[in-house]
Amino acid sequence: MKEACGLLGIYTTGNEISISTTIYFGLLALQHRGQESAGIAVSNGRSIKCHKGLGLVSEVFSELELKKLVGSIGMGHVRYSTTGDNTVENSQPLVFGYSKGQMSIAHNGNLVNTSALRKELQEHGFIFQTTTDSEIIAATISREISCSADLIEALQKAMMKLEGSFSLIIMTEDKLIAVRDPHGFRPLCLGRLDNCIVVASETAALDTLGANYEREISPGEILVIDNNGVHNHMVAKETRRSLCVFEFVYFARPDSTINGITVYSSRLRAGINLAREKPVDADLVVGVPDSGTVAAMGFSQESGIPLAMGLIKNRYIGRTFIQPMQRMRKMGVRLKLNVLKEVVRGKRLVLVDDSIVRGTTSAQIVRILKDAGASQVHVRVASPPVTHSCYYGIDTSSKKELIAANHELKTITDFLGADTLEYLSLEGLIEAVGTNREELCAACFDGKYPTKVTDTVGKRLFEK
Ligand code: AMP
Repeated sequence: MKEACGLLGIYTTGNEISISTTIYFGLLALQHRGQESAGIAVSNGRSIKCHKGLGLVSEVFSELELKKLVGSIGMGHVRYSTTGDNTVENSQPLVFGYSKGQMSIAHNGNLVNTSALRKELQEHGFIFQTTTDSEIIAATISREISCSADLIEALQKAMMKLEGSFSLIIMTEDKLIAVRDPHGFRPLCLGRLDNCIVVASETAALDTLGANYEREISPGEILVIDNNGVHNHMVAKETRRSLCVFEFVYFARPDSTINGITVYSSRLRAGINLAREKPVDADLVVGVPDSGTVAAMGFSQESGIPLAMGLIKNRYIGRTFIQPMQRMRKMGVRLKLNVLKEVVRGKRLVLVDDSIVRGTTSAQIVRILKDAGASQVHVRVASPPVTHSCYYGIDTSSKKELIAANHELKTITDFLGADTLEYLSLEGLIEAVGTNREELCAACFDGKYPTKVTDTVGKRLFEK
C-alpha cells in the first residue's frame, strides 16, 4: 500500500509540556501530507497509549482524547492511502507488543519488496491484521529483535531487509527513534524546542511548534533519543541518495526546507525556468491555488506578464487529489475553485499549475475559465509530464491513469480544452531544485527507478 504521510515525534527531557497537544499542533502543520487518518501514541515510560481514527487531525482528536494521552515521549501520524483500504486498522501509529515490551511505529513511504517480506514472515509464523507496509516493517523489526540482544543491531538488520522508501518514527516505552531509508526518498528532520527533541517530516512543523531546526536525518541513519541523550548509527548499505523531486513540485509545504533548499524558492525558480523555456504572448498569469501559486509568481516575474488572482479557492475543502476516488476528485475541483469572472473575462491567460497527473483537474479549470469568458487559456506546467508510476510513496497513480504516459501533447491539449500546453523540462526542474541529478529520484518523470521494483502486492507494480 502506498503511504504518503506525515510524521512527528517528540522526546521531552524535563517537565512538562502537554505532549499530546504539542503533537496535535505539529500534525496540523503536516495535514497536507495526508487527510484520511490521524493518530497519536504517547509513552509514560512504562506503557504506550494510542488514539487514532479516520479523518482530519481536528476530527480525530477532541480535547478530552488529548488529555488522556499523558507521557514524556510521543509520536503522531497523518496518512492517506491510495488503494482504498482506508480503515481504522490501517491507520497509524501501529502499537504492538514484542519480546521486550511495547513498540509503536509510523511510516512515510512505500516498500517495494513487501510481498517477499510478507511471505517470508508468514513462513516464520507471523500473522498480519492489516495491509500496511508498517505492519511488515514492525514484524521485520520484531523478528530481528528476537534474534539479537541489541535493539540498534536489530534495526540495522531490519533496514537491510526493507527495500523502497521509508522514513520511520519508532517509539518504545523509553526511546524515540527516527529512521530514514538509505536512499533518503522522503524527508525527515530534527529540531529542538526548549527541553524537547522533535523529529518531523517537514521543517514547517518545527516552525509551527517554535522548535529550532537542527539538521536532517541522514539517509541510512538511525537516530536514537533516550535518557543517554541523542545518538546515531548508520546502516552500511551502499546506495545512491534519491531524494524525491516531487516533494518540491507538489507534496511538501512551500515554507519547508528540504536538503537545504526552501520548497518555495524551488517552485519560484521552476516558474522562472518555465517562462524562459516555454514563453507565450498573453495578458495575465493565473496560478492554480495553492499548488501553482508560487510557480505562477515566477512565471510572471520572468515574463513580465502581470499576475492576477483569477481563481479563488475555498479554504475549507481539502486537497482534491487526496480523496482517492476519481468521482470524488471530479466534484472536488468544482467545490474548491471559483473563477473571478471580471478578472479573466476577455483575457488571454497563462494558467500555471505545478503538475498534471491524470489531467482531470486542469481540464476542469480550463473549462471554468473559458465559461467565465477567458479568450485564451495557455496551460504551463511547472514540472515535466508524469509518465511513470511512483513506487516510493507519492500517489502518482497507475500508469494507465497517467495522461502523459498514454497520450501525445496534442491530444492532452485537446483534452484540457487549452489553446496551448507546455511543460517544464526535467533539466529546468532539477536546476530549480538545486540538487544534483544523481541525488534525486525523478522516476515519475523519466522512469529511472533507483531500486528494483519487484513487488507483487499492488497491481500497480505491473503497470510500469
Ligand atoms: P490531476 O491531473 O487531475 O490528476 O491532478 C493534478 C493536480 O493534483 C496537480 O496539479 C497537483 O496540484 C495535485 N497533485 C499532483 N500530484 C499529486 C499527488 N501525488 N498527490 C496529491 N495531489 C497531487
